Amino acid sequence: MRRATDRLANETFDVLIVGGGVTGACVARDASRRGLKVALVERGDFAGATSAHNSKLIHGGLRYLRNFELGLVRESLRERRIWQRIAPHLVHPLPFLVPLYGGSTKARATLAAGLTLYDVLSFDRGWLDDPRQRLPGHSWLSATKAREREPILDQPNLDGAFLYYDAQMSSPERLALECLIDADAHGAAIANYVEAGRLLLRDGKVEGCSVRDTTGNAAFDIRARTTLVAAGPWADIFLEHAVNRPASHKLLRSKGIHVLVPAMTREFALTMATAHGHFFVLPWRGHTLLGTTDTAFTGNPDSVGVNERDIADFFAFINQHLPNAKLTREKVEYFYAGLRPLVDDGSGDTYGASRRAELVDHGKDDRLDGLFSAIGGKWTTSRHLAQLVVDRLVGKLGIDARKCDTAFALLPERTAAVLSAMRDEMALTLEDVVMRRTGIGQLGRPAPQILDDVSRTMAGELGWSEERRVTEIASLDRWYRTQDAA
Ligand SMILES: Cc1cc2nc3c(=O)[nH]c(=O)nc-3n(C[C@H](O)[C@H](O)[C@H](O)COP(=O)(O)OP(=O)(O)OC[C@H]3O[C@@H](n4cnc5c(N)ncnc54)[C@H](O)[C@@H]3O)c2cc1C
Repeated sequence: MRRATDRLANETFDVLIVGGGVTGACVARDASRRGLKVALVERGDFAGATSAHNSKLIHGGLRYLRNFELGLVRESLRERRIWQRIAPHLVHPLPFLVPLYGGSTKARATLAAGLTLYDVLSFDRGWLDDPRQRLPGHSWLSATKAREREPILDQPNLDGAFLYYDAQMSSPERLALECLIDADAHGAAIANYVEAGRLLLRDGKVEGCSVRDTTGNAAFDIRARTTLVAAGPWADIFLEHAVNRPASHKLLRSKGIHVLVPAMTREFALTMATAHGHFFVLPWRGHTLLGTTDTAFTGNPDSVGVNERDIADFFAFINQHLPNAKLTREKVEYFYAGLRPLVDDGSGDTYGASRRAELVDHGKDDRLDGLFSAIGGKWTTSRHLAQLVVDRLVGKLGIDARKCDTAFALLPERTAAVLSAMRDEMALTLEDVVMRRTGIGQLGRPAPQILDDVSRTMAGELGWSEERRVTEIASLDRWYRTQDAA
């Protein structure tokens, strides 16, 4: 996969996708596999924003049952199985324990009913060829068993724990990238580090977008019969700039942080339900990922980050509900923050807001014919969202396209080495390689020798000066500093 800037500047496309997170990547994959002529631009690196900074779960969303969002849970559980089928190398079963304390029979009965419904709604979870991917239904572990399996749960008032299963991505960044690699193999013209600006408008019809290649500052136009905004938490802000008027569909942005610490559990993930929300303790690459918070965010999405207060408050909350965790600041290995792009339901309640996605036709809502936005949603449901988006685009274009096959076609399995990341996966910066193509930077700052070796290999391939190489290493530090220290 090579940066297709020449093609982007010179051809006319059926659809131009703005944003290379998982939403844009899934739409590019689906549309190109159906025979559409696809362009995609990403202003930073692929899956470098929300699509990297989440809980990495491919899950049904047990807690949405509380809001009776049965449709969303069923859709998510079906999509969970599909990701397990098309990307078994990156999506794996994850067993969860939900401990119960304090002897409430009502709490136990409510959770048992919820988990039974979860099992019923995932009736097809065994319909997978690989027996290792088939997920069992839920069960109950006595207090003794739960303590034995996960000593961290031990407290005098432990009643026991429910065991249930969901799935986890070992690398959301690579999963989204593989969707793009598949799209590229089916003819899509794709480039990272290309920022979309003003929309090209003629007689109320959107005919593409002006863009800027930030690697060399060249500006050019991309011409397309339809344009899809898949800009995640930037979607409404992008549109305001692109057409110079207030967006009709506003997003509610919710910040969530995650913190990586040394392994806290033996084999299970934990879902800890509290009176003030829930948190996850997730085994990931031999460490534990703690997530997440949920607070309304009204600043510029570019400025989202983690501060010391976020970590202190989150750890106090976890220590209160899981006293054996004994979390202290010294245990922190890595942290990150993401912004949930939620459909604004007017309530201002980010925790209670639905995680459903919405496809906006701006031809109807804003008299911008040919322009669509895909907003909200979950990683888990992004493939299905893409299917719905492409159905709509095909209808709009009035063309005879092939049927959607993304639920069955396997994703191309790749392993990154540094050279192939640059040659075949568009890695252009040290951060691209360290944080996303290989992920070696996500377990804490890599040793200086490693960064030296990787950056020298990149300098040789990409013709960096010594000054550029040193700057690339220094700029990685932003991932390991809280905002207070910046
Ligand atoms: C804390 C947290 C936890 C979550 N946990 C889970 C989970 O466990 N499971 C799950 O299913 N979902 C989870 N989600 C939701 C999931 O991560 C998101 O729904 C999904 O990643 C959204 O992807 P996206 O492509 O729409 O947005 P993004 O990944 O943000 O992609 C949008 C892209 O658009 C680009 N862009 C913006 N402006 C422009 C422009 N002008 N030109 C070109 N490109 C532009 C951005 O650089 C960005 O890369 C979580 C989200 C958060 C924040």
